[in-house]
Amino acid sequence: ASAMREIFLEPPKVRWSDIGGQEYVKQKLREAVEWPLTHPDTFKRLGVTAPKGVLLYGPPGCSKTLTAKALATEAGLNFMAVKGPEIFNKYVGESERAIREVFRKARAASPSIIFFDEIDAIASSRGGSEGSSDRVLAALLNELDGIEALVNVTILAATNRPDVIDAALMRPGRLDRIIYVAPPDLDARKQILQIQISKMSVAGDISIEELADATDGCSGAEIAALCQRAGLKAMEDNIDAERVEKRHFDGAVRSLVKRITPEVLK
Ligand code: ATP
Repeated sequence: ASAMREIFLEPPKVRWSDIGGQEYVKQKLREAVEWPLTHPDTFKRLGVTAPKGVLLYGPPGCSKTLTAKALATEAGLNFMAVKGPEIFNKYVGESERAIREVFRKARAASPSIIFFDEIDAIASSRGGSEGSSDRVLAALLNELDGIEALVNVTILAATNRPDVIDAALMRPGRLDRIIYVAPPDLDARKQILQIQISKMSVAGDISIEELADATDGCSGAEIAALCQRAGLKAMEDNIDAERVEKRHFDGAVRSLVKRITPEVLK
């Protein structure tokens, strides 16, 4: 049981309103996960099958985890987070057992979401040594196809590397909804800045517009980090600072290093 410590059943806390932009992703996730729960009769009547799982892909720090959590919160679902590398780095045979255990727990906690972050670590088509990764992937597929139906358990998976994911995982009846989670556009960056800055005490002359322009090409995570750095700079100036000044944001912008390069975009 101690080996399962990394599997969390988290109380919901992230709301849709905590996420700037990503309207398309939010809508598609609602359709895929909320609708089957709230309108099962319509699905039946129209002969539409609810998806078993959704694969979110896109550059790091662009709110894949955040949207998965918000979905759980807003739909009132239990949320289990599992990191691919943690499952994979277990002793021989333990990874498969861990996967079975995750699904067992999710069934017991249904309605629920299992969120597999960095799914590429367990679902890569470039098999590892001794076929160990084949066995782990087989265990995952086995659970997805399982004889025990996944009633009210939805699988969300996230990856920055959709190119290495084994196509078998995305066959119909498995993770057959695939959603690209893009870096924030200008409007989304304004919203993210608004969300961050609303939690800070800041000077009146801070321009969200200017900051949104300056963070073109940044991920949401980088924008959040930038605001943190500005706050820290204010404290370096004066440990009793009342608020963060424009010069602190400007300083943080100057030390900005953008990590989303064209290669990690679609
Ligand atoms: P990774 O691929 O690295 O796991 P991710 O796509 O899952 O990244 P998140 O963990 O969801 O990214 O985002 C990291 C942090 O960046 C969030 O906790 C939040 O502070 C901030 N962030 C990212 N995108 C947004 C957004 N659209 N709105 C508000 N905050 C955001």
